[in-house]
Amino acid sequence: MESALDHLECSRCGTRRSHDELVNLCSCGGPLLARYDLSRAARTMTRAAVGERPPTMWRYREILPPGEPVTLGEGMTPLVPAKRLGALLGLADLWVKDEGIQPTGSFKARGQAAAVTRARALGAKTLAIPTAGNAGGALAAYAARAGLACVVAMPADTPAANVLECRALGARVELVDGVITDCGAYIARKAQDHGWFEVSTLKEPYRIEGKKTMGIELVEQLGALPDVVVYPAGGGVGLIGMWKAFDELEKMGWIGRQRPRMVAVQAAGCAPIVRAFERGAEEAEPWERPETIATGLRVPRALGDRLMLEALRESGGTAVAVSDEEILAAARELGRTEGIYAAPEGAATVAAVRRLREAGWLEEDARVVVFNTGSGMKYAEAWRRACSATGP
Ligand SMILES: *Cc1c(COP(=O)(O)O)cnc(C)c1O
Ligand SMILES: [Zn+2]
Repeated sequence: MESALDHLECSRCGTRRSHDELVNLCSCGGPLLARYDLSRAARTMTRAAVGERPPTMWRYREILPPGEPVTLGEGMTPLVPAKRLGALLGLADLWVKDEGIQPTGSFKARGQAAAVTRARALGAKTLAIPTAGNAGGALAAYAARAGLACVVAMPADTPAANVLECRALGARVELVDGVITDCGAYIARKAQDHGWFEVSTLKEPYRIEGKKTMGIELVEQLGALPDVVVYPAGGGVGLIGMWKAFDELEKMGWIGRQRPRMVAVQAAGCAPIVRAFERGAEEAEPWERPETIATGLRVPRALGDRLMLEALRESGGTAVAVSDEEILAAARELGRTEGIYAAPEGAATVAAVRRLREAGWLEEDARVVVFNTGSGMKYAEAWRRACSATGP
């Protein structure tokens, strides 16, 4: 089995690019997407064949980028039935996809494993990234594993756990006054002069490829797609990735035309996608003064805004903003009922499900998958607040 990668295609203007050189965005500014020869991939990537392969995301090798995988065993996380939490929320068929146990404690591992694999194969020497926290930790880990240098720019108020993790994994850390978009400007400025390869969200084509594997795992684990997928969206890599994977799986004969309703959850203090969705807009305006305890959701402007909004609308899904108070209360509910020590971003999906159920948007018997995207262990400050808050 080998990768059936064929070319890159601009998600905005459709221009094709060769996949065998290091490249960021299309010249029109649009994110590039990986396109495969899916009929070739389907010959070896059958459900039966994949079922026999080791339980990492590299079991989907045919539709991942080529190169010797740089891996820490990422992928194939548990899909946990959440009966007790479901009973609390009035849902009979609720599941938690628990990404908290990934290498580096978040699902960013999937994207960075794919990106670093491809970048190393194409000769990159130094990888650079702006990050709210977890993407930097994951990049530092996979760069170390690949023997490449790594530069990480983070907001100065990023939780200590993320800063220390990057340093521990050998990255050079730059603390920037501002939010992730300011870090992005910093990296973009320096990258040219220093010959760094930028691995920023959607500026790099293969992080999506790593994260899309979450969607393929759902099909393997449930035997079919769920009715609803509830995802905490910052840059939207996972949402866009899973949506892309479903198309690929249909073309490969794994699934039919049905799709889950895709739900993007954001924090009330930074909800550009929710606002754009509610306005019926095709793209999102940048959010002023983003603020939330769920640091992975503190993304005021996303390059993938159009792709996210398209997936939400085409799937008949929706977008929901929840407050930090709701997030902290939901985190405790998830912990107390299911034994999952969640990241606040993951808890946000539980808060959103509560809202959607109360509003009647979710039916009692809908099969709903929420994503816990990271481990609570990286969020001591958030958890201190959650545990000092009063209430159940
Ligand atoms: C980065 C991050 C998110 C947002 O992920 P995107 O795919 O970029 O939208 C959510 N949760 C956690 C824990 C994160 O680190
Ligand atoms: Zn283009």
